[in-house]
Amino acid sequence: MLYDTVVIGAGIAGCSVAYFLKQKNQKVLLVDKEGIASGGSGAAGAFLSPKIGVSSPLKDLTDDAFNFTIDFYKKNFPQYYHQTGVIRVPKDELNASKTSKYSKFHNAKYAELTPSQISKYGFDVRYNSTLFFDGGTCDAKEICTELVKDIDFLRFDVKDITKKDDVWIVKDKKAKNIVLSTGFENDLFDMRYMGIKGTWGNRGDFSSQLKLDVSMHESLSISANMGGVIKLGATHELEVIDKKPCDDSKDYELLEKASNMIDTSDFKLIKTYCGMREWE
Ligand SMILES: Cc1cc2nc3c(=O)[nH]c(=O)nc-3n(C[C@H](O)[C@H](O)[C@H](O)COP(=O)(O)OP(=O)(O)OC[C@H]3O[C@@H](n4cnc5c(N)ncnc54)[C@H](O)[C@@H]3O)c2cc1C
Repeated sequence: MLYDTVVIGAGIAGCSVAYFLKQKNQKVLLVDKEGIASGGSGAAGAFLSPKIGVSSPLKDLTDDAFNFTIDFYKKNFPQYYHQTGVIRVPKDELNASKTSKYSKFHNAKYAELTPSQISKYGFDVRYNSTLFFDGGTCDAKEICTELVKDIDFLRFDVKDITKKDDVWIVKDKKAKNIVLSTGFENDLFDMRYMGIKGTWGNRGDFSSQLKLDVSMHESLSISANMGGVIKLGATHELEVIDKKPCDDSKDYELLEKASNMIDTSDFKLIKTYCGMREWE
């Protein structure tokens, strides 16, 4: 069979591409060496909030992506999108000095809050911060799985890709088009000009009774309390080449950091995740 498109990599990027091509009546094959959302997308805390900064083509693109994604998730996967709002807290004085300057460039509903206003949400912070009302967190693995439930999926490691007579050949599969959505991994073709690398990160899910209705992001992300679970996550180790074993101790480092901002006294680690995000 000749597919219209073969998509390599079944993270959120590959699953979304596969879904939208299928909506356009394409015959799509999705391939992943480990399974659906087995890379960064499965590990992510999956916090969604807009890019902060001055106007630029990249900011316009990410703002459009943010607004599109929120609408799409709310319409199609309301059970997997938790619109808690996200408070973006400046990491340091320099960032804090830009909070008001950047506000005129926001393309999403927001409020600028003082530390005493933020304390009512349960966070102890030093600087004025921005609450994006439409932000939140999603269940990325579940969304990926739903997106591709009607799409042909094969699990194997793609070692090389070839093209003959305008047809792409991946192992014994053939397609007219190919999409690479392999996350931080870029050994299938020469990507020097893009310079994609990996950043290693951890996410810990903790049980807690703490009342926390809003999520926040500073140098780590802290989710709202969702059914007795609070997610802490951060990608923090730059330029890691290979994946590493998952390490609980990193979750306890995140917990220590979080304890400067919220009451973590009843937090108990339930599950640890780790993975690589792309970075360039
Ligand atoms: C701990 C952590 C926390 C994060 N938190 C957030 C967050 O809060 N908000 C946010 O927006 N982002 C977050 N990220 C980043 C986010 O997860 C990534 O940007 C996103 O998941 C990238 O998706 P992707 O589909 O491009 O890549 P991935 O999800 O990494 O998917 C790539 C897939 O390609 C497959 N693959 C690679 N090479 C091959 C091959 N040769 N053959 C077959 N299959 C192959 C892999 O197995 C993998 O499944 C976080 C990341 C981590 C690790």
